[in-house]
Amino acid sequence: MSPSTSPSSTPSRLSFTALSPDILLLVFAHSSPFDLATLEACSKDVRDFVSKHSTVLYANAQRGFAVGKSRPLPLKPVISSKGNFSEAAYATFIFGGGTCDNCSLPTDKLPCQYALRLRSCSKVCTRNLYDASTCHIRCYTNDDYKIEPWSDWLPFWRVFSEEHGREIVGYLSKDVDRAVVERACAMRRDIELLQQHRITPRDEKTLNKEIEIRKQDLPVLVKNAKLLDAWAHNYFKQKKLCEDDNIEFIRLMGRVDNQRSSTLVRCPLVARLLAAFSRDLVKITTPVWALNYHQICQEYRAVKSGTLVPHKLTDDDKIRCQWCPKMFKRIGMPLHVVDAHPDKNPDELIVKPAHMEGKRHCPECPGSYKAYSEIGMRDHYRMHHPAAAPPPDNTEKKRCPLPPTRQTRKYNLNTTTGDACLPFASKRAQTTKSRRLEMAAQRVIGASTCSFKLCSPGVLYTVP
Ligand SMILES: [Zn+2]
Ligand SMILES: [Zn+2]
Ligand SMILES: [Zn+2]
Repeated sequence: MSPSTSPSSTPSRLSFTALSPDILLLVFAHSSPFDLATLEACSKDVRDFVSKHSTVLYANAQRGFAVGKSRPLPLKPVISSKGNFSEAAYATFIFGGGTCDNCSLPTDKLPCQYALRLRSCSKVCTRNLYDASTCHIRCYTNDDYKIEPWSDWLPFWRVFSEEHGREIVGYLSKDVDRAVVERACAMRRDIELLQQHRITPRDEKTLNKEIEIRKQDLPVLVKNAKLLDAWAHNYFKQKKLCEDDNIEFIRLMGRVDNQRSSTLVRCPLVARLLAAFSRDLVKITTPVWALNYHQICQEYRAVKSGTLVPHKLTDDDKIRCQWCPKMFKRIGMPLHVVDAHPDKNPDELIVKPAHMEGKRHCPECPGSYKAYSEIGMRDHYRMHHPAAAPPPDNTEKKRCPLPPTRQTRKYNLNTTTGDACLPFASKRAQTTKSRRLEMAAQRVIGASTCSFKLCSPGVLYTVP
């Protein structure tokens, strides 16, 4: 459970790590694996102490997940290859969130598949990850992958496909690209490319030695992934139950002060408490509530009056304007600022509509609702404020000063002679427009061969 400090509580002068090791062990014994990893990251003394007793502490924390339907968290695999495979890294990998492998947005969700270490932020992203058209996973329906040099050490995913009537094997495209670059760079010693992919520079001999170790580690990783997949299935069921219990507790606590539970769970502190306790399959207790009561009440009042951005803001939530007491939905806020506060910059809003992220309003056009992206703003300046336009970006695409002869699809029709021709039109354009040409020619009497000498000989438009 991530401890949340109340702003009203004064910091203690007592150094936590100065306590006797027995007491420290007793305190840490109540922590979850992610708590221990977070604590390790915040102080060198704590890190030294936890890493000294890491096996005992983490094993104890992993047993803490054996609640109801959930089983203890599988132990960290013992890996010999180079890299950070510590207990803290293992806990952070599972509970610490990361970026979605499909849309690259940050997410606090657990990995959705452990064999390829995939993480997704939504059901749509999970579907996209497995979709063949997105190319996130390189799937092999036959044994072709076996000839690849990386096939015997890269983590893979094996599943029975009903469509093919046999097992298919999938490798993460990112991993494959990395392996190919690593091999190519070991042979050419391309340091720049290695740094770009964040790969440790190795010569061919060292890389071969390292790959031999990775081959030995692969079965351990595969086994751990299977255990984690089975564990996660039960963990999510228990987590849902625990979350329901915690929401019920928050509802009861809110009732005491006549606070609505739907608003309470959207207070940032309550949302953090709910997420942390439910993640660790622990119930929120009255002492925890009492410790944070002061701040929860403050946040509740602020969220209700619209002065604090609630946790997981929805499009229907109204928030208070930063410069006046009026309340608006997220979508209407920039329009209000442009209309009512012409001296304020609508780009300085803390909460903006999703479509305005990364865009800004033109400072030269007061009263305009339009927001532009960086490229759009440059074009807008070039068109409307050429005097104030910023210097052109060197990376911007430029038109070639010597353009090739462009083919025009327009046709000429000599109205006096009735000649019609397609001067530079492509063959396809000629066939699609031939009917229109015929009709045009039919309107003119005395049609003859093309006088522009551009049509193929023999093209004659006559009126019957
Ligand atoms: Zn996503
Ligand atoms: Zn306002
Ligand atoms: Zn402008």
